[in-house]
Amino acid sequence: MSVAEPNVVEVNVVEPFLRMDRMPHIWCPGCGIGTTVNCFARALVESKVNLDNLCIVSGIGCTGRVAGYMNVDSFHTTHGRAIPFATGLKLANPKLEVVVYSGDGDLSAIGGNHLIHAARRNIDLKVICVNNFIYGMTGGQTAPTTPDHVVTSTNPYGTFDPNFNLPQLVEAAGACYVARWTVFHVKQLARSMEEIFAKKGFSFIEIIAPCPTLYLRRNRMGEGLDALKYYKQASKIKNGAPTAEVALTKGGEIIVGKFVDRVRPDYLDLMRAQMHEALGDRYVDTLHMEECEEECACPQN
Ligand code: SF4
Ligand code: MG
Repeated sequence: MSVAEPNVVEVNVVEPFLRMDRMPHIWCPGCGIGTTVNCFARALVESKVNLDNLCIVSGIGCTGRVAGYMNVDSFHTTHGRAIPFATGLKLANPKLEVVVYSGDGDLSAIGGNHLIHAARRNIDLKVICVNNFIYGMTGGQTAPTTPDHVVTSTNPYGTFDPNFNLPQLVEAAGACYVARWTVFHVKQLARSMEEIFAKKGFSFIEIIAPCPTLYLRRNRMGEGLDALKYYKQASKIKNGAPTAEVALTKGGEIIVGKFVDRVRPDYLDLMRAQMHEALGDRYVDTLHMEECEEECACPQN
């Protein structure tokens, strides 16, 4: 008589990165945010980031919940203030890899000034923006990213004010890395997320994701799966495309790809250069001393 093999249940590679005690999550069926988290966890595996040095900061909204679900040091901050909070973390401890993970409403509306000024200063942050074209959690109001002719809770007869083209906005402000993918492009998205861990300076990834409960329903655009079919059919990969040419419209073409990858001195580099110029040997770079390993032989130590 043969002995039955015990059932072997393989652990999903993503699971160790999640606070499983907080499952089930609050996201609606067909929502795109979970897919982005899956890609992010895979990027963490591939990039071999030291998880002890990783911090995730979220603002308020459906995407803001990501910080609470990730099993790393994370901070769920106030509305629109993820970037200033993250900036404080990075400047106080430059060794940290600081990721801002939030939605389009949080990052580009109430947090819009923080977004452009962090890009201008080239703060070394990795900003992941899930763009579902509306405020999700608060009831589907019009956001700065909502395209024309869209029905929202605050524009029941359709939107008419021009929307932000986020890649163009952050490039113009000074971002070093700018990419856009949809949640259909899971491989490319995970690779982009991996790339920003090797990048110094302000990095920004926009992810187009469906909100079936509010955006798709009110605009009779189907379910989450219909959104994926649309992303597949309407997306064109154009790496290096001028960001002025990647604006989004309702139901129109979606240009995706890596648009910007450049090098600029970051905020701390600029600050150190200025302090050395102004103070010479009297400037003691305490942050640099903390960043260096003990055996470092640089003159600062
Ligand atoms: Fe996702 Fe929209 Fe539901 Fe929020 S309201 S969890 S964005 S589907
Ligand atoms: Mg949103």
